[in-house]
Amino acid sequence: MTNCVPIFDDHFHDECGVFGVFGHPEAANLAYLGLYALQHRGQESAGIVSSDSTDLYPHKAMGEVEEIFTPAVLAKLPGSIAIGHTRYSTAGDKALLNAQPIMIDCNKGKIAVAHNGNLTNAAEWRRRLEHRGSIFQTNSDTEVIVHLIARSQARNFSAALGDALNQLEGAYSLLVLTPDELYAVRDPRGFRPLVLGRASSADGGEAWVAASETCAFDLLNAQYVREVEPGEMVRISKSGIESIRFAAEKPQQYCIFEHVYFSRPDSIIFGRSVNLSREMLGRTLAKEHPVEADMVVPIPDSGVPAAIGYSLESKIPLRMGLIRNHYIGRTFIEPSQAIRNFGVKLKLNPVRNLIAGQRVVLVDDSIVRGTTSRKLVRMMREAGATEVHMRISCPPTISPCYYGVDTPTKEELIASSNTPEQICKYLGADSLGYLSLAGLKQAVNDTEGRFCTSCYTGIYPTDLVQLEVRETASNGMGPIEAITVERES
Ligand code: AMP
Repeated sequence: MTNCVPIFDDHFHDECGVFGVFGHPEAANLAYLGLYALQHRGQESAGIVSSDSTDLYPHKAMGEVEEIFTPAVLAKLPGSIAIGHTRYSTAGDKALLNAQPIMIDCNKGKIAVAHNGNLTNAAEWRRRLEHRGSIFQTNSDTEVIVHLIARSQARNFSAALGDALNQLEGAYSLLVLTPDELYAVRDPRGFRPLVLGRASSADGGEAWVAASETCAFDLLNAQYVREVEPGEMVRISKSGIESIRFAAEKPQQYCIFEHVYFSRPDSIIFGRSVNLSREMLGRTLAKEHPVEADMVVPIPDSGVPAAIGYSLESKIPLRMGLIRNHYIGRTFIEPSQAIRNFGVKLKLNPVRNLIAGQRVVLVDDSIVRGTTSRKLVRMMREAGATEVHMRISCPPTISPCYYGVDTPTKEELIASSNTPEQICKYLGADSLGYLSLAGLKQAVNDTEGRFCTSCYTGIYPTDLVQLEVRETASNGMGPIEAITVERES
């Protein structure tokens, strides 16, 4: 019997936010606030590990940052160094086991790791390491990093970390904590963002902070200093900050979806304002797909900046024709189709007296399965819209992300097997317009081709490895006999 299964449950589903602080008397409190600002990057579990320079203190739990880190919990996280992580994973993989930071005690001492991104050769490494006797405690790709650190023969920790990373492929923005050092690291292609900043403490001291997005710095009144460069390891210790280049340069592959959807509009990502990008996406969309209509209605919150851009460019007034209930989670997280369908209604409601008798342009950032847009088109018609035109501020999503954005399988992506005309029909819209890839690149000012666009092209910048597991016994319960590796790209 042959099964094609990913070794890691969370294989390529790992949307996360990371935050770190070095040299602040209230490090855990800062980490809590930083994670609070990064909550949109993951709502399923969160964790903080702090250090008082001699030992590490962890706390991880399922749920949102605010509910996990009560004053009593934070009081048990002493010291002036801390890293934190907030994580979203798909249904069926809700184990606390996989919450981060991952903490281990090994021949290099105590280490904690917070990872945003996804390693594309982690399964291959895990198989090799398990073959040699390594015991894994989670099914997260991140655990491979700590095993490789522990196995390194290098004398100092930064070299061991470099050794480990040079054997890995894929996306990682990492914060690594030892009792007296904080490392901020970005993979050589720079898929996911990671920024450095300075925060002051009440005693007049200056601390270093690192985060997935600058919006975390704003909350702390910290100053944005710069990005961690692709292929750079920033070591922060009592003796100061040091930049170590651990890998040769590779062509940059910044995730374009951070600008389309994932990051907050008030953040600076890859050196550019996300809001600026999103308004440009909307403006370009209006030029590429103009339509005669009475109002532009954003799908809140993700469609708002692009809708503003569309309205500014087309001179069609922007109206808040859909109201969002902010007190429920993202519909995308719901585990079954039935709940997801219900969820749209739970989350968004039309303003009937605005919509009735009007020709409406609905703007959203993306279509994944098509469930949300279909419901919303119907909702608009039921509210009396005479025409509903759907506009999407990115190209059709045709292929899954293997670098840390949660996307369903290719089969579930409506645009992987349907043309825009077929999708328009499925949505029940009068017209549908997707932004072109060229328009998207122009809107994020990608003149040098530095962005990864694989979800729109199906062309991946790294090898992708899938493991095929063969079971020997006819009942399918036998031991794993052979594993073949198949490359996708
Ligand atoms: P769907 O109903 O499956 O087409 O989902 C579309 C909605 O999901 C859009 O409103 C997007 O803003 C949102 N969305 C797109 N990508 C993601 C993601 N990776 N995580 C959560 N929500 C997403």
